[in-house]
Amino acid sequence: KAKAEGKNTYAFYQQHLTEKTIRYHELEADLKLAVQKNQLVLHYQPKVCINSNKVFSAEALIRWQHPKYGFISPLEFIPIAEASGDICEIGYWIAKQACTDFIKFKAQSEMSSIAINVSTKQLTDSGFIKKLNNIITEANCMPQWIELEQTESALMDSQRMHVNVMSQLRQCGYKLALDDFGTHYSSLSQLTNLPLHTLKIDKSFIDHCTDNKKAHMIVRTIIQLADNLGLQTIAEGVETSEQLDLLRSEGCVAYQGYYFSKPLPAEDFEKLLSAESAQFAEK
Ligand code: C2E
Ligand code: MG
Ligand code: MG
Ligand code: MG
Repeated sequence: KAKAEGKNTYAFYQQHLTEKTIRYHELEADLKLAVQKNQLVLHYQPKVCINSNKVFSAEALIRWQHPKYGFISPLEFIPIAEASGDICEIGYWIAKQACTDFIKFKAQSEMSSIAINVSTKQLTDSGFIKKLNNIITEANCMPQWIELEQTESALMDSQRMHVNVMSQLRQCGYKLALDDFGTHYSSLSQLTNLPLHTLKIDKSFIDHCTDNKKAHMIVRTIIQLADNLGLQTIAEGVETSEQLDLLRSEGCVAYQGYYFSKPLPAEDFEKLLSAESAQFAEK
C-alpha cells in the first residue's frame, strides 16, 4: 500500500512539474508579443513625504493581462523575461510609457520624479544608456526626473560592471535607488561603492517593526546608516498608522504603501493627484 501511495505522490509531483513547465514556456512565448498586443500596463504607487503628506514621486509597477490566464504577477513573469532576455525590450517600453505618463502627472502636481524598476540584465544590454537617453529626450523628460530602482540581490554578481554603468547613469543625471534593502548580502563596502541616492527599506522589516524589537532596530539602523552615508531613505510596504508613527519618530522622511495607496492605473493616479491639489489649495 505504501508503495502505491508513494507512486501516487510521485505521479502528482510529476504532473505538477509538467504543468509548471508548460505554463513557463507558454508565458515565455506569449511575453514576446505582449508589448505589441498591448497586454502590458503600468500602475503607479505614490511616494509620500512623511512630514507634509505630499506625493513627490511614484513607482511604476508593471502588470500583465494575459488572454488565457488573466492577471499575472510581475513576480512570476519578470524572472521569465530576464531569463529569455526579453526584459530589455520590455524595459524600454516601460521607460517610454512611464515618461509619457509622468509628463501628464507633472503638469498637475508638484511631483519631482518618477521611479522605474530596472533589472541588472538591462544594464548589460549594449547601448543601454544611449537608448534610455533617447527615450527620455523623445518624451520631453530629463534624467533628473527619473529614478532607477535596482535590487540588491541582482547587484551581487559582476559587481564591477554594474558599478561602472551605474556611475555613468549617475553622471547623466539619473537618480539611483537600492530596492529591497536589507534582504540580501551586500557588504557595507559594496554599499559605499555604488553611486546611490536612496535606500529603500524592505517591506519585511516594516511589516514587523511595531511588534518585533529586532525589526525595529534594523529599521533604525538602516535610517542612521543612510543618513551617515548621505543617502535618502524610503520605507516600502507601510500599511498602518502605527508603522508610519514609528518611521516618523525614527527620522524617516518618505514612504510608500497601502496605508496611503495601492498602485493605481494612470487614470486613477491622476485623480488622486487632482484630489490632493484641491486639498492643499483649501489650506
Ligand atoms: P518592488 O519593486 O519591491 O515593488 C514593491 C511591491 O510591493 C509591489 O508589488 C507593490 O505592489 C507591493 N506593495 C507596495 N506597497 C505594499 C503594501 O503596503 N502592502 C503589500 N502587501 N504590498 C505592497 P508588485 O507590483 O507585485 O511587484 C513585485 C516586484 O516585481 C517588484 O518589487 C519588482 O521587483 C518587480 N517589478 C514590478 N514592476 C517591474 C518593472 O516594471 N520592471 C522590473 N524589472 N521589475 C518590476
Ligand atoms: Mg521597486
Ligand atoms: Mg521594493
Ligand atoms: Mg520589496
